[in-house]
Formats: sequence, C-alpha cells, structure tokens
Amino acid sequence: MTAGMPSVRDAFLHRLQELGERAEAGADDLALVLVDLSNLRHINHQHAFSIGDALLEELETQLFAMATRDRTVFRISSHTYAVIMPQVAQLALLPVVIGRMRSLLEKALEMDADLMPARLLFGVGVNRGGSQSALLTLTAAEAHLAALRSGSYGDLDDFLVSDVDEETQLNQLLQPFATALQNNEFALFYQAKVDAHSGQLVGAEALFRWPDPKRGFISPELSIQVAETSNRIFELTKWVVHTAARQHQEWFEAGIVVPLSVNIPPSILTRPDLSAMLEGALHIWNMPEAQLTLEITEQGLIHDPKKATKAMKLLRDKGFKISIDDFGTGYSSLSYFHDIPATELKIDRSFVIRLAHSVKDQGIVKTIRELAGIFDMQVVAEGVEDMVTLNLLRDLGCDVIQGFGVSRPMPAAEFVDWLGSWDKLESFEEAFPQPSKV
Ligand code: C2E
Ligand code: MG
Ligand code: MG
Repeated sequence: MTAGMPSVRDAFLHRLQELGERAEAGADDLALVLVDLSNLRHINHQHAFSIGDALLEELETQLFAMATRDRTVFRISSHTYAVIMPQVAQLALLPVVIGRMRSLLEKALEMDADLMPARLLFGVGVNRGGSQSALLTLTAAEAHLAALRSGSYGDLDDFLVSDVDEETQLNQLLQPFATALQNNEFALFYQAKVDAHSGQLVGAEALFRWPDPKRGFISPELSIQVAETSNRIFELTKWVVHTAARQHQEWFEAGIVVPLSVNIPPSILTRPDLSAMLEGALHIWNMPEAQLTLEITEQGLIHDPKKATKAMKLLRDKGFKISIDDFGTGYSSLSYFHDIPATELKIDRSFVIRLAHSVKDQGIVKTIRELAGIFDMQVVAEGVEDMVTLNLLRDLGCDVIQGFGVSRPMPAAEFVDWLGSWDKLESFEEAFPQPSKV
C-alpha cells in the first residue's frame, strides 16, 4: 500500500455509497454479501501458501463471473470479498440466491480430493430502500460475519427476520432472557490477549454468549440490551464475574494461570454495591483482585466523567485493574484524562481493522500510543486479523494484541487446547494468514 493512495476499502465504500444512493432513488433494496474463505489460515498451514493463493484466485474469478454490474466485487481483506447486489427484487429470496452462490462456489473450489475443503461464510448486510449509509451496511454485514465465525446465527433466514424490527425482537427476548438467566443457560467464551512481540499469553477476555435453543446464538450486544431493558444487567454481570472467577480457579488448579478481563457496563459502574459484588465473587473463587481487569467502555465515561472516574478509582484502590475499552470512539475529553485510573487502553477494533489501508487510522493509533505513554498505560489492540496489521501495530508501539488472527473467542475447554498449540508455535507467522495482497 502506498501512503496517500485511496485504499481498496475506500474505493469499495465509495462504490457502496454510490449504489446505495441509486437504490434509494429507485426505492430498491440493496444487499451486501461478504464472502469469507474462513479456513484459509488452516489451508495454508496444512498445505502450502500456493494452494491458498490458488483458491483465492478461483474464488475471485468466480465472483467476478457472477457479477451482474460493473465494480460490484471487491477484495476487502486477505480472505474476504465484498459483493454488492444493488437491486434485490425480493429480500425473502436472498437466502435462496446465497444458497445457490454457495453451491456454485464450493463446487468451483473443489480442487483436489486430498485438500481440506474450503469453508465459505456469507455475512449479509441489507440496506432497505437504500436509505442507510454505506458504512452502516458494511458494519451490519461484518457483524453478521463475525457472528457466524464465532458460531452465532445458524440461519440466514433468522438473521434477515431478526433484522426487520429490532424493537419487536428485543421485546420477544425479555422472557426467554429471564428464563435463561434463571436456568443458567448462558456461556462464557474466552479470547486470548497476547504480547505483541513475544506472542506470550498475557490474559483472556471473557465474552458472554447466549445460545438460545430456538434462535441460535443471540448477539452479545442485543443480549446486553435485553438485560438493560429488563433491569437485569447487574445480575447478568454478576453471573459473568462468578463464572470467570470460577474458571480462573479451575485453570489455576490445573497449573494454568490466565489473568481475565470482564466487561463492566457503564450503567452499573457507579452502583454502590458493584465493588462488594466483585470482591464477593473473587473471595468465593479465591481469585486475586490483580488477576481481574475490568473493561469499561470509553463511551461510559463521557456522560458523567467525574462520577465515573470516582467509581473507577474506588475499584482500582481495591486492587482491580482498569481498562478503557473501545477507545477512540467516545470522544472523551483530555481535560479529565489524567484523572482516569486506568492501566490499559484498548483501541477500538474499527481503527485496527482499517489500519493497513488507512494512514489516518495509523495516525490515530500513534496518538493513542503516545497518550497512553504519558499516563503510563499499556495499549491493547483488538481486532487484529493479519500479519500486516500486527507489524504495523508493533511499529506503532502497541503492547498487547487480541484478535481473530491469534484466537477467536471460544469455550474454556477449546481455549486450553488452543493454548497448548499456541505455545508450540515458533512465530506469529505460523498462526496468521498470509499478508493481504490488497
Ligand atoms: P468488546 O468488549 O469490545 O469485545 C471484543 C469484541 O471484538 C468481541 O465481540 C470479539 O469477538 C470481537 N473481536 C475480537 N477480535 C476480533 C477480530 O479480529 N475481528 C473482528 N471482526 N472482531 C473481533 P463479541 O464477543 O461479539 O462482543 C461484542 C461486544 O459485546 C463486546 O465488545 C462487549 O461490548 C459486549 N459484551 C460481550 N460480552 C459481554 C459481557 O459479558 N458483558 C458486557 N457488559 N458486555 C459484553
Ligand atoms: Mg471488552
Ligand atoms: Mg472493545
């Protein structure tokens, strides 16, 4: 990538915006399909990079052959193509169209019987009537893809239906949520945080999952919204903290020390009983406070920075570590920054994902690094998916990375298996997919 040149991603977003505006003029629906060769890394690992390259080339050829309009297919990351469908006659038929696309592509990618079959995921974002921005459509498709990668949303039909009316969906989930909470039907997944240079494990973030028997996995953001709406967010956080602390103890007894991070929603940060709840959980499960990091989103600080800072200081004084999550999106003011008792800044993944293609985002990350340096905080980058991004982050001085390139969020048992094989790797290169060509 040459600095200053428009990146493929920018060109793609520009085209998506343009076609969105055209769809709006004709009151058409537009769909964006992200076609992801999700096991490229494993294919490269088991076979050779040349096989991975050949598969990508074939995928690209097929996608271009399927395109009905000019400039509707873009390679937006090392193993993901974006396909814009500017006029979808009937949204209800989209799953059928994608099903057909899948079978054609899978057939074309069957190169050799001995090869690991290519695994394709289709993340879909719909822009109804063309009124939505390109970025929002892309975000929706990326969220769908991320959910598919982590095992959520089995079915595109469900996803499209769930996209229709968020409020109705939220209301429909209130009762199932209460029942699931009562019956202990939730799960915690763990995603590694590793040293950006040595690759050594420094901890894991505990991420909430709600596997609903009828609906598949429900996205954590929606689940949290349901918990907030039904006033059960404190109860849910308590479940998360207890489960994480119990897991910490179980691993500790098995000789594995994994410092854990949990997300503390801003809505409960200033509750007077929060610190007692946290201490209680750690006491029961014999987990030292210093082993638990509390991730609090930057967004949570801007409403009442003074009150939030005070609450965070109290927690820090009890020995917990504090991390500012999704940093860079909340526009927090520097005037109170020096007062924030955080030990860690987590750069929002939107900057990290665009890093290789955006000089502006590199500048933002550099500024965040300098800011963290002044206040003696470590910098964590989340959303690290490839080697190019990792190298940029290293050059920019990031300390710790978290992302699909290292590990996806996974259940505790799988996490231990992953850790076993991660420890055997000689270098990051072995784990990461090949550098993106775009
Ligand atoms: P977060 O705290 O910023 O968590 C990181 C999110 O980034 C996770 O999404 C993770 O799967 C995703 N991620 C990590 N690496 C990559 C990558 O390389 N590429 C991409 N595209 N995504 C990556 P997840 O698990 O879907 O959670 C989303 C958000 O939901 C979390 O963002 C957090 O705000 C909230 N959440 C999750 N679990 C909990 C919880 O237990 N309590 C609360 N209050 N919020 C939670
Ligand atoms: Mg977090
Ligand atoms: Mg985050």
